[in-house]
Amino acid sequence: MQPINPSPRILLGPGPSSVPPSVLRAMAAPMVGYLDPQLMRFLSEIQAMLRQVFQTENEWTFPLSGTGTAGMEAALVNFIEPGDDVLVLVNGYFGARLAEIAARHRAQVETLEHPWGQVFTPQEVETALERKSYKLLALVHMETSTGTLQPQVAEIASAAHRHGALVVLDTVASLGGTPVAVDAWDVDIVYSGSQKCLSAPPGLAPITVSERARRALESRQTPVDVWYLDLPLIARYWGEAHAYHHTPPISSLYGLHESLRLIAEEGLEARFARHRANAERLWEGLEALGMDFFVPRECRSPTLSTPLVPAGVDESAVRRRLLEEYSLEIAGGFGPLAGKIWRIGLMGYSSSRANVDLLLTALKQTGDGGR
Ligand SMILES: *Cc1c(COP(=O)(O)O)cnc(C)c1O
Repeated sequence: MQPINPSPRILLGPGPSSVPPSVLRAMAAPMVGYLDPQLMRFLSEIQAMLRQVFQTENEWTFPLSGTGTAGMEAALVNFIEPGDDVLVLVNGYFGARLAEIAARHRAQVETLEHPWGQVFTPQEVETALERKSYKLLALVHMETSTGTLQPQVAEIASAAHRHGALVVLDTVASLGGTPVAVDAWDVDIVYSGSQKCLSAPPGLAPITVSERARRALESRQTPVDVWYLDLPLIARYWGEAHAYHHTPPISSLYGLHESLRLIAEEGLEARFARHRANAERLWEGLEALGMDFFVPRECRSPTLSTPLVPAGVDESAVRRRLLEEYSLEIAGGFGPLAGKIWRIGLMGYSSSRANVDLLLTALKQTGDGGR
């Protein structure tokens, strides 16, 4: 048996994104115990830095042990009791997954649906909320299946609150790449994933919970269905008590600490500007290659672009050549978009002018070959 030795890739897909060397180095730091005073300091620094990235003062702000999907499950299971009415906005794969998870936890789920690639208006959400009252409204900020960025989240959240619903927001593929302002938008339960725009390895799901949502938890009649993702229990480890709940993935926390430190060093505004500038450079370059886009410019995400595959091009052959000849990874579409779009992520450390230019050059050369 040989030790593993993967050759490096430039990750321009929907996640994971490339991980900065200092994050990888941080993960090789010595192991300590889960109550080691040194670790306790790192934990509180992670929380403080996460609050800055989420733009919140929520006390309950910490990473869950698990990927973005653990964030989805925790955001729903903690706030749903059997029979609760839940409304999910569905315009792509991840919205549909939220609805599926809520249903498995025995919520009474209804969806407001749009074709993949379209976004919701606060007015239509308000109309749905007027027809019936819901315990919770869930939506996706950046739909990774399509590349849409949902605008007017604050207006949708305020409509939900007027009608007594908590708001769950998925920011797995937006946090750290485009503004997510938890307190200003007044969204209650917001989660993300470590491996997309935060550029840490996969395995952690940062989450933040508002006071309003915590009050709702206190009035639960039944215990949370899933012991591992029980937020009040997890909060006791991250809070003053440091009470054991489960052993956190300590090396992954080292990595997240470093990735958040890099974000703080760059500054959020500069980071968003970098993501936007590189996305615009990519869009212009793709247009110059004659490509159109699945999502209109006004609701395109700077973190994931979805050009349409030109007619006659074998999109999987192009992706294969990008990987083999340039060590570049991009993704194809799936579900109704299989074969129709490419999904090009410019997330976190992967969002650089050099990567954009390399991809454009590579596409120019392989694109013709795929035709
Ligand atoms: C990637 C992603 C998830 C799921 O995260 P995993 O880390 O794959 O579990 C959820 N929502 C969105 C919008 C995503 O892009």
